[in-house]
Amino acid sequence: MRLETLLIHGVEGDSATGAVNTPIYQTSTFRQHTVGQQGGYQYSRGNNPTRHALEEQMALLEGGAQGFAFGSGMAALTAVFHLFRAGDHVIASQNLYGGTSRVLDKIFSRFGLSVDYVEFGNLADIKAAIKPNTKALIIETPSNPTLMVTDIRAVTALASQRGLLTVADNTFMSPYLQRPLELGVDIVVHSATKFIGGHSDVLAGVVVAKDAKIAEELHYVQNLTGGVLGPFDSWLLLRGLKTLGVRMDRQSQNACELAAWLRSRPEVKKVYYLGLEDHPGYHLHQTQASGAGNVVSFDVGDGELARHILSGVKLCVLGDSLGGVESLVNLPDVMSHGSVPAERKIQMGVTPSLIRLSVGIEHPADIIADLEQAMQR
Ligand SMILES: *Cc1c(COP(=O)(O)O)cnc(C)c1O
Repeated sequence: MRLETLLIHGVEGDSATGAVNTPIYQTSTFRQHTVGQQGGYQYSRGNNPTRHALEEQMALLEGGAQGFAFGSGMAALTAVFHLFRAGDHVIASQNLYGGTSRVLDKIFSRFGLSVDYVEFGNLADIKAAIKPNTKALIIETPSNPTLMVTDIRAVTALASQRGLLTVADNTFMSPYLQRPLELGVDIVVHSATKFIGGHSDVLAGVVVAKDAKIAEELHYVQNLTGGVLGPFDSWLLLRGLKTLGVRMDRQSQNACELAAWLRSRPEVKKVYYLGLEDHPGYHLHQTQASGAGNVVSFDVGDGELARHILSGVKLCVLGDSLGGVESLVNLPDVMSHGSVPAERKIQMGVTPSLIRLSVGIEHPADIIADLEQAMQR
């Protein structure tokens, strides 16, 4: 099955009743037939049929051995970092999601996991950062909010030479546009809050492991630490996933129009979009993903003007998050990247006048009209 079909017919309904959709098994525990029953469902922290259906569906979509669903993207990343132990070292991309570097720096450092941040555009820098205790490379491509692209194949080739794990945060692309496991990555992580859910109504995270051994370790961590996703939220994601393809197509198409329009505006000094040929990551991205996605960032060169636009939008929502059906705008400098050191922000292109737009599925002319009226001084 092609991905569009897999989204609809991958994990399908309920064989016991013929229900077309997976039921919400809103239960914490299951009746056991013998004392110490092995197999089957026993307790929902360990496994729940609704969550299981979502986890299987995500494994199918990413092409992995098994998926695991958590109560947020951060809980999913936290579970992955629990695969390491005191004294281990990981190398992460400099452009990682702020929350990911925060949990490594502020929480996992307490337990003796150390991390170095490196510019993943330069393989020599990654090589130079590898130490005897290095266990993993952590990538996120494209990055937030200026869409810098990491060469997934090159990084995984280096990792396998050196016996390192690779972890990829695939939130910005979703499996519909990019499947890192097929490019050699070992573990994919999602903030399912974004495109997987797609409706800005559920907070969730998913991990998919390529092979059974890592999957077994992740299931162990998931069951022991317990940050699991509830049955109702799992069902919301199963429902959201069915339209992932049509949403992504429409959002990418809209983003393309928005990027072209923004480029024509005198207020806009710079546009970052992976569908624009002059984006530095354009060609590399095309070799590893099948679309540019829906995030368009643009710099208006003047922080006051950026704030003026953001307080003037009526249709676009000013807020954190991305990937929902509604267009959403934010000011990374003080919102999504508020906790990133000033020097790092400038390196990443996050100026006080950079606006990030997550383009929704509205009619593009209405999104354009909204931004146009907001730009009027
Ligand atoms: C939002 C996000 C996260 C964190 O996910 P939550 O669901 O908010 O916990 C991690 N990585 C990326 C790339 C994100 O955009």
